[in-house]
Amino acid sequence: MGVDYQPKWLQEVPSPSYVVEETRLRHNLEILKGVQDRTGCSILLAQKAFSMFYFYPLISTYLKGTTASGLYEAKLAHEEFPGENHVFSPAYQEKDFPEILAICDHIVFNSVGQLKKFAPMAKQAGRTYGLRINPEHSTQSEEHAIYDPCSGDSRLGTKLSELKQALDEAPKDEFLYGISGFHFHTLCEQGAEPLAETLEAVEEGFGQYFNQLKWLNFGGGHHITREGYNIELLEECINRIRTKYGLKVYIEPGEAVALDAGFLAATVLEIIEASQVNGRRGNIAVLDTSAACHMPDVLEMPYRPPLMGSGEAGEKGYTYTLAGPTCLAGDTIGTYSFDHALKPGDRLLFGDMAIYSMVKNNTFNGMPLPHICAVDSQNKVTIVRSFGYEDFKMRL
Ligand SMILES: *Cc1c(COP(=O)(O)O)cnc(C)c1O
Repeated sequence: MGVDYQPKWLQEVPSPSYVVEETRLRHNLEILKGVQDRTGCSILLAQKAFSMFYFYPLISTYLKGTTASGLYEAKLAHEEFPGENHVFSPAYQEKDFPEILAICDHIVFNSVGQLKKFAPMAKQAGRTYGLRINPEHSTQSEEHAIYDPCSGDSRLGTKLSELKQALDEAPKDEFLYGISGFHFHTLCEQGAEPLAETLEAVEEGFGQYFNQLKWLNFGGGHHITREGYNIELLEECINRIRTKYGLKVYIEPGEAVALDAGFLAATVLEIIEASQVNGRRGNIAVLDTSAACHMPDVLEMPYRPPLMGSGEAGEKGYTYTLAGPTCLAGDTIGTYSFDHALKPGDRLLFGDMAIYSMVKNNTFNGMPLPHICAVDSQNKVTIVRSFGYEDFKMRL
């Protein structure tokens, strides 16, 4: 997405607000549905990235279902998303499991220990379940280790050696306590090439068991809706697994569903000018939004979010570091330049703020949570939800 977008609704929405445009969401969904239609795979929304259930009825007309990280997301899908309900957790709680069984169609276990503990119940309830495997094949750089389930002593997924040991001990009349599929998730914001490479590692290690399975889940982290993504290669991967082994293929992207589909609209509150007297080397604009509270991935990933109408530092005439109104010295969003001097009251619009934003925000410092807005195809704004003091107090 270019950074020159200046939508009419910017002056209309309350500040700060996450604003998701239906047209942009549909654009992504069309691409994903294309993959589904051409390959026969099933695409699931990974809700942890984007849980704005206002759009679940729309998303459900394109995608087959959802996946959840535990009971609460599974419950949200059960209530709001007509489709298949999948769940994965590194460890389920016994007190949650009956409800998970009641509402989830597919359950993915992380370890043989979990499988042994819960498979009998899942089987009795008539649910399909599988095992998350760890192909021990990293395709991410070491700086990204926090997002790499194949890094170091990752708890995510069962290694081949663990699987082999478990098979020696498992009852022989059924494959590993009755699982019907494998799940792997090793990518983060990546293309189809690392997927193809990972799939080779998966086949080499775990392919020997595929004839006893019905499905293979490729996990998430596929940046399918990013410009330049090699969709053809993704489809080749899916088709090969389907035809060579007769397995049903699931993929469960989160980011790709709402990539570039949303914004965060904010307002300048105060300007702190650079000067020789105060020894500040750059201008600062304090906003009514915070990286720490409203866009935590900016600090965690970290990354510099796109800002509409802005340039790199020094590129345009007026450069500012944009900062939150919290106590955290490092609560800065990035340094940007503008054609005009900023002043209090100016509206700013950050891009790509639908994903990993509203699902991760917090009220540190008593920061108000941004409103959540939707813009339909006629450019009509709906304020989906607003938050106030009670939302802050209620959690404490
Ligand atoms: C995070 C995650 C996803 C979604 O990842 P994206 O990077 O948002 O596409 C899917 N499946 C599992 C198991 C995950 O942990």
